[in-house]
Amino acid sequence: MARMADGRTWLERDAAVVWHGFTQMAAYPDNAPVVVDRAEGHYLYDTEGTRYLDAISSLWVTTLGHCVPELDDALRDQLARGAHTTLLGNGNRTTVELAEALARVVPVDDAHVLFAGDGASAVEQALKIAFQYWVNRGVTGRTRFLGFGDAYHGDTIGALSVGDGGFGTDLFDPLRFPVVRAPGFTDPQCFDRAVALVAAHAAELAAVIVEPVVQGAAGMHLADPADLHRLARACAEHDVLLICDEVATGFGRTGTLFASEQCGIRPDLLCLGKGLTAGYLAMSATVASGRVYDAFLGEDLGPHTLYHGHSYSGNALAAAVALRHLELIDAWDVLANVRARSEELRGLLADRIEPLPQVREVRLHGLMGGVELAPPGPGLRWGRRVCAAAVRRGVLLRPLGDVVVLMPPLTVTSGEIHEIVRVLTEALTEGAPEALTEGAPEAAGATS
Ligand SMILES: *Cc1c(COP(=O)(O)O)cnc(C)c1O
Repeated sequence: MARMADGRTWLERDAAVVWHGFTQMAAYPDNAPVVVDRAEGHYLYDTEGTRYLDAISSLWVTTLGHCVPELDDALRDQLARGAHTTLLGNGNRTTVELAEALARVVPVDDAHVLFAGDGASAVEQALKIAFQYWVNRGVTGRTRFLGFGDAYHGDTIGALSVGDGGFGTDLFDPLRFPVVRAPGFTDPQCFDRAVALVAAHAAELAAVIVEPVVQGAAGMHLADPADLHRLARACAEHDVLLICDEVATGFGRTGTLFASEQCGIRPDLLCLGKGLTAGYLAMSATVASGRVYDAFLGEDLGPHTLYHGHSYSGNALAAAVALRHLELIDAWDVLANVRARSEELRGLLADRIEPLPQVREVRLHGLMGGVELAPPGPGLRWGRRVCAAAVRRGVLLRPLGDVVVLMPPLTVTSGEIHEIVRVLTEALTEGAPEALTEGAPEAAGATS
């Protein structure tokens, strides 16, 4: 690896000062991480000049690729008009335009948008809004939430609480508040149970929170949209708020702009993040229905106010990119590409990947895919080894435990889909056996 004047590599400099999320830093330098020098289109270039196809969309955020000229222009234009002004008690024209554009397309009635920075903050906001909604309405006892098994809603304490743990986060259990828990999507009865739990606990439930159609971080577990429709009906019937966490599924990932559309549901609260700014900048949003929003109207400085807001809420640079992004999704007919490439990927996975003995199951919805491996034994870090073999072949993949995640950009081409499947096939057939002899078994980090 290239060394700099001081004799160190970029990786050495990185490991010396950067603390990477969800990463065991003692092992980080040995896991051949890609240290990016620059990104362009669907590719990343590391500090050695090696090129990688970004098949995980930079952890699910990139939608149209890197360095999109139209998005770069939107960002530059906004820079000339100011990067950020506060939304606490004041407004910004670009943020108004984005909120109007979002309100037109989100599956939420009479939408009102509260901006934040990360997906977890959007979830946190939704939980607090749902909780205070009942307080503001003078209804007592509606203090609990129903969440699903295997759910992932982010890493702040509230989001962690409604999520189902895992990823080594169990040590935080003493900090998590208790929730009513339905089974995960892998249980065919999970929606029957959830609907029954809504009925049984209605008087104490503030809201139900669910990832519509795809439980992403769980390893791409899929639900029948009709079941989500049933759940939404139960919520409406028992007057329990419904929070849809579309941080992962939003902005075209599943073939429609939002997965809730496929379920025919209109949640009271919708959480957005990841793809909102096309992967450019940290911005998330909680969208509230008019019914929820109206419960917060009251006297100035009075108790109905939502006493919550982040410093960078509604950041104008992020808003400008997000606004242009929405226009481009339309202008480029991105959703049609998602559906076409999804069908192509489905066919290739069925032909080449599913029949392999190294594979237990293939799951795909839109361009959210998971290839669950069949490791020959526990604790082999099988997912990581297969992904490392793919990275050596120029396709950047990252597993969730023993599930290889396939999350290409929404503008991925047919050639790139073929390339991903070709490399994954090689990584599965060559990478895994070679890895078997490589080393001692050790505990698997779920996202490692
Ligand atoms: C990624 C994710 C989050 C958390 O978003 P961050 O931006 O990482 O905080 C929340 N919910 C779902 C469904 C996610 O996939």
